[in-house]
Amino acid sequence: MTAPPAPSQPSGALARYEAVIGIEVHCQLRTASKMFCGCSNTYADDPPNTHTCPVCLGLPGALPVINKRAVEHVLATGAAIEATTPPATRWDRKNYFYPDLPKGYQISQYDLPLAANGRLSFQTSEGEVTIGITRAHLEEDTAKLVHGTDEAGRRVSLIDFNRSGAPLMEIVTDPDVRSAEQARRYAEELQALLRAIGASDADMERGQMRVEANISLRPRGTEPFGTRVEVKNMNSFRSVERAIAFEIERQAAALDAGETLTQDTRGWNEDRGMTYVMRSKEDSHDYRYFPEPDLPPLRVDADWLASIRAGLPELPAARRARYQADLGLSGYDAAVIVADAQATVLFEDARSSEPNADPKALANWVTGAFLGLLKMDPEAAGRVEASELADLVRRVGAGELSGTNAKEVFAAHAADGATVASIVEARGFRQISDSGALGAVIDDVIAANPKAVADFQAGKPVLGFFVGQVMKATRGQANAALVQEAVRGRLEGDPGS
Ligand code: ADP
Ligand code: MG
Ligand code: ZN
Repeated sequence: MTAPPAPSQPSGALARYEAVIGIEVHCQLRTASKMFCGCSNTYADDPPNTHTCPVCLGLPGALPVINKRAVEHVLATGAAIEATTPPATRWDRKNYFYPDLPKGYQISQYDLPLAANGRLSFQTSEGEVTIGITRAHLEEDTAKLVHGTDEAGRRVSLIDFNRSGAPLMEIVTDPDVRSAEQARRYAEELQALLRAIGASDADMERGQMRVEANISLRPRGTEPFGTRVEVKNMNSFRSVERAIAFEIERQAAALDAGETLTQDTRGWNEDRGMTYVMRSKEDSHDYRYFPEPDLPPLRVDADWLASIRAGLPELPAARRARYQADLGLSGYDAAVIVADAQATVLFEDARSSEPNADPKALANWVTGAFLGLLKMDPEAAGRVEASELADLVRRVGAGELSGTNAKEVFAAHAADGATVASIVEARGFRQISDSGALGAVIDDVIAANPKAVADFQAGKPVLGFFVGQVMKATRGQANAALVQEAVRGRLEGDPGS
């Protein structure tokens, strides 16, 4: 007898090589104004170059002023990932030339980040994983280049300065990540964390959270790191996982063929499902970092840090644990709810409005009907009121409303915001749990379907068919569990049921 392969046994390239991956995330911080000036930091739908001033246009002589809220977001992130914050930090200039950077340098933090030596834990299909976080620092975003053609058909690159000087937090992991799945899960967990503490909306598709992965391979059982490649342009969690999986295979094939890898920056082409060379990689000494002379060093006093730490909300990991331990949710349901900020708020608010509603039933509605709707029709999902959902779940639990009718009520509520009570009233929904009333309908359905009765007697699974017919006859109002029992009883020859 041969033993089945262990589920965690790596396949393909990962059987020969171990992947070493470090992840850099840039996220746009949620603040009213930009990092070093008073321009509004909310510009997504505004015309280009309508949120600018001498500071964020990089005009000579303009002086930066530190945005306190942005600093607090990084300190809160640091506290949430159990990082340490130095008592004093400063700003540094990272020098390089690019048209989206008019000053010729980016104000960033080099050797004294606001947060260092943190960690983040999360679940994967192979169990819990903890990734070390090297640092989280604060910097300013660049302007945005828009490539196109002018009226004369010439190719032009336009610059939109609305994003220039927006506050950005960069979070860099240790090279602890070992697979494409771990990388995706890390990014998902980080997003949930940033949203929970309100530091960032962290929407990948909207560029509010940009994930870059450094990937290298080493032969299994060896220590030294191989040559790494940095991959950019991954615009969804799925692309993060796909791009890394591709890159692992590509590097393994190259190593197997005896090739030497080069330390490139590569882009991810979503349509073709492959990475391509963008440029060869700069080293940090090429940036000629030096302390920013226009800004004072920043002292982080212990009281400030302590009050930020004390103000942290419940973090995703703690919330998932509470949902499982106190509310009896499955690990899956807890993870699905906590991964989505809207689902979490809906679930929490519904529980406050109807504390006796069954948490598991409520979780089913949130993970199923609500998150399904959120994907299909976010506007309709936005109309779902926590108190109405709670009322719906209570009615189903109390046997007043059938599951089938409840789905219809949910859809009707989301369609225009009408209350559950008014929909139930208007449609005359009332669950029939009275066996006398149901009995007559069941008898009719059995009499009308001799073939299905024969199928039942031949051992075929036709109970669901009968339940469906009874539901149809009662406009979905029958108590499905009762119907199933009654049909079974009758067909098995127990006239009393
Ligand atoms: P850079 O200055 O180019 O951004 P860093 O030293 O800050 O480089 O590292 C960037 C990321 O790359 C970090 O997440 C780090 O853990 C990771 N990293 C460093 N060396 C390797 C390697 N050989 N293979 C994979 N990842 C690596
Ligand atoms: Mg980097
Ligand atoms: Zn400005």
